[in-house]
Amino acid sequence: MRFGPGRPDLRGCSLSCLAEELARLGERPYRARQLFRWLHQKGAASWDEMTDLPQELRARLGERFDLYTLTIQEEHCSSDGTIKWKWRTVDGLFVESVYMPHGDSGGSGLEEDDVQDDEGAPRNRRRRTLCVSSQVGCAIGCTFCMTGTMGLARNLGPGEIADQVHRANRRLVGLGLGPAPRPLTNLVFMGMGEPLHNFENVKSALDLLLCQDGPNFSHRHVTVSTSGLVPQIRRLGEETQVKLAVSLNATTDSQRDRIMPVNRRYPLAELLQACRAFPMKQGRRITFEYVLLRGVNDADADAERLAKLIAGIPAKVNLIPYNDGPGLSFAAPEPARVEAFRDRLVRRNVTAVVRKDRGQDIAAACGQLAAEGGPGDPRRRKAGVEHPGNGPLAPGALPLSLEGRGQG
Ligand code: SF4
Repeated sequence: MRFGPGRPDLRGCSLSCLAEELARLGERPYRARQLFRWLHQKGAASWDEMTDLPQELRARLGERFDLYTLTIQEEHCSSDGTIKWKWRTVDGLFVESVYMPHGDSGGSGLEEDDVQDDEGAPRNRRRRTLCVSSQVGCAIGCTFCMTGTMGLARNLGPGEIADQVHRANRRLVGLGLGPAPRPLTNLVFMGMGEPLHNFENVKSALDLLLCQDGPNFSHRHVTVSTSGLVPQIRRLGEETQVKLAVSLNATTDSQRDRIMPVNRRYPLAELLQACRAFPMKQGRRITFEYVLLRGVNDADADAERLAKLIAGIPAKVNLIPYNDGPGLSFAAPEPARVEAFRDRLVRRNVTAVVRKDRGQDIAAACGQLAAEGGPGDPRRRKAGVEHPGNGPLAPGALPLSLEGRGQG
């Protein structure tokens, strides 16, 4: 990852790339692992921290690489334990990550979907999940999503994606919210951006985050979400072992065309075919995210169609009552409607849970992520501030670069 004429980002390099580079410098092989651990296990933010690497080696590496680290621009803590960070990138852009603790509020210590999601994990395991961003903005243009209003500024590089996790881990340790060096237990790629539209960089970041010499996340605890990019869903299944979530949100093509323009490129039948073909180990299942929009997709008939659409796919449905976003003309259904929708699915033998609102008081809930005050913030545009990034898509239009590889 380079920004302009700069040097490559050291944090975006794989262990094998570091090994090659250090061999070229005449260093012993163990140095690569040592360096990688500083970058991805301890989350070092500067060369100075790497005290067991010779000063002279650090200086030579510094001539060849930059060591990019996200900095905290803002931190917002919700009354429910959720924390939202707004990070500043080295080139002055902003992205957000959201920390969600589960099971810290008494009772069984577990939510219903914790038990369902964490196959292989002890049933009393506490989850600390980070929702990670993959792009600055998003080109997909879902009409109910704050990030979708921003347009795409650029892809995040592998090092920047991984660094959200490292900064969050360090901050959580500093706040006493979990054990060092890695309080986080789970990752979901559901923050700003369409992860599969930045496929190469997300895949490289997954390699860093799942590496035994890095934070060593289990693929069972990492979920990548997509709006429905069919070719990349196939690649995700072939090239990784992480879990898949699909942001479905509609039960007919005409309905989905209106709220998710990506459906015009990859309609429901094609998307669901890709889901049926997604490789799933015993017990694993796809999560279908379904944002409930009042009067748009929340009728009993939608629930019936949804059950039919996903019949035969090992799956669960996360129902997400819409979170109001300024400037977006949707509304959340009444709680009784949400329950009725869920009950209808359950009667059709579909596993369905209503996702708890998390971090609503800090605008960290699903669909609310947008770098407030940043270039794409619709509130700025409303106020007449120019928007230098890629504009949001015209209704029905698709970005020409939708199937392109990572630009970062
Ligand atoms: S819902 Fe996801 S894919 Fe759609 S605009 Fe928002 S961030 Fe992009």
